[in-house]
Amino acid sequence: MHDVSIHWYRNGLRFHDNPTLLDACQQSKTMLPLYVIDPDAPFAQTQGLRPACIRANFVMESIQEVDKKLRNMNSQMIVILGKPKQVIPEVVALLGASALFYEQEAAAPIRKADAEILQELKSKVGTDCDCKGYPTHSLHPMELYLSKCKGNVAPSSYGAFTKIFNSLKVPKEVEEVTQVPPLPEDALRKLKDKFGEQLRLPSLEDLGYENTKEKLKNRAKGGIDFIGGEDAGLALLRYMMSRKQWVATFEKPNTSPNALKVDTTGLSPYVKHGCVSPRTFYHQLSKVYAQFNSKEISKPPVSLHGQLMWREYNYLMGYSTPNFHQMADNPVMRQIPWDDDPQLLSVWENSQTGYPFIDALMTQFRETGFLHHLGRHAVACFLTRGDLWQSWEKGAEVFEYYLVDADWSINNFNWQWLSCSAHFYQYFRCYSPVAFGKKTDPDGTYIRKWLPMFKDMPSKFIYEPWEAPLAVQEKCGVIIGKDYPYPIVDHKIVSKDNMSRMKEAYDSQKNGLPMPESQPVETNE
Ligand code: FAD
Repeated sequence: MHDVSIHWYRNGLRFHDNPTLLDACQQSKTMLPLYVIDPDAPFAQTQGLRPACIRANFVMESIQEVDKKLRNMNSQMIVILGKPKQVIPEVVALLGASALFYEQEAAAPIRKADAEILQELKSKVGTDCDCKGYPTHSLHPMELYLSKCKGNVAPSSYGAFTKIFNSLKVPKEVEEVTQVPPLPEDALRKLKDKFGEQLRLPSLEDLGYENTKEKLKNRAKGGIDFIGGEDAGLALLRYMMSRKQWVATFEKPNTSPNALKVDTTGLSPYVKHGCVSPRTFYHQLSKVYAQFNSKEISKPPVSLHGQLMWREYNYLMGYSTPNFHQMADNPVMRQIPWDDDPQLLSVWENSQTGYPFIDALMTQFRETGFLHHLGRHAVACFLTRGDLWQSWEKGAEVFEYYLVDADWSINNFNWQWLSCSAHFYQYFRCYSPVAFGKKTDPDGTYIRKWLPMFKDMPSKFIYEPWEAPLAVQEKCGVIIGKDYPYPIVDHKIVSKDNMSRMKEAYDSQKNGLPMPESQPVETNE
């Protein structure tokens, strides 16, 4: 039993199925719940890359909810503004804590930062503080997966990973935390003396965010208001699980990139920030599946269990691959000679490509911090191998900035997939910025919603407004070239050219990389 311990929050912003918090509570006489916010890069994953307002707000709301619940248990969340590398050792030393409980992350930049913090802590207080990291942000610890992999190397396909996953049993959830130990004696006074103004729950404005009302005003426009916290996350989970038939037969490729409301679960922000436990999500799905005949249930990779398995696989790849976030020195990566044109990147990011489907998707993305999975496919393909031939690294950075669910491992994995740089090699299959959206939304209702300037455009031209006769453009109040740009590239031409460039790049690297003989049969597209 520890007289004084610290529960250091990052993800894991919940009380249900939280093994780290539960152990901290059960093994401590007094406990300090602590969140450290680096004011220079609050909530950053990649070092220094601060998120856009919507994600920062989501995390702040989640912290506030944890604080409220802790106060109902006669404790509170202690928030300190500063660099975790300085703050953590200082707090441990100040309170004489003998244990630091925290949830580990699979993502390389966070593991690196953690290692530095623990090293600093060791040099400050020696081995007096027991640092207890819990690998519970995933269904299984990454090291457990690796111990099952041939030569400790992650498998190069989802199919092979499935076999490993199926050989393991997802652990049961732990009991909910309903009581916490009191704060260490005199902790508030000591912390106030030491940290002064740094000790406070900051507003978004304090963290350097401006015009927050304006930036948050459309966050619910996509159909789900991503309010941070466990309560909203569990409510969404309960609602989704009540749609039993939908859950049992869910097949990702049959969902729609341009649905007006999110037509997948929308749980990713909650799972990412640990407001909903991945195990709870997984077991709730199992309960629904158990009510159906096994023949009726969809199966991985396209089922909802399959989606959570993708998450595990992405984590494993990110965990075990050096330099996973980049092309250089990344052993699973095909080297593609991408162009580097900041102008094209900006056009794509700011919905100015001249393709209404792509521009509408990017508008939803910026305004809500969320995009349907297949919408992410379409815009990522467009930026990289499909049309603009810009590096996936640049796209991943833009995604990491805006997404409310931005997750280093999943984001980098999917960008590698979509750009056919790794994991997926069918570069001759390309999303059309015109035909792909038409399949599920021939009238362009989605485009009209996100780009209201096209509200009166006849369905015939909504995906290709430049084809509309001038009289039609005038009648709709959108003159192409004046009110809305001409297409930045001719998809029909560049997509073919780009396929040739991909082929060249592939041919020049035939040896030494796991392709195409290990090409996955299963598809995420
Ligand atoms: P559902 O379909 O309901 O899936 C349930 C859960 O499974 C999700 O909440 C998520 O935790 C997980 N999941 C679903 N799809 C995937 C996938 N392809 N890979 C790994 N896990 C998955 N997802 C993120 O959580 N963070 C990211 O930063 C991220 N970046 C992406 C970038 C690109 C270019 C692409 C193509 C996809 C990205 N995804 C990312 C994966 C996926 O698009 C989202 O997880 C999904 O759209 C979230 O919606 P949902 O919760 O309704 O998903």
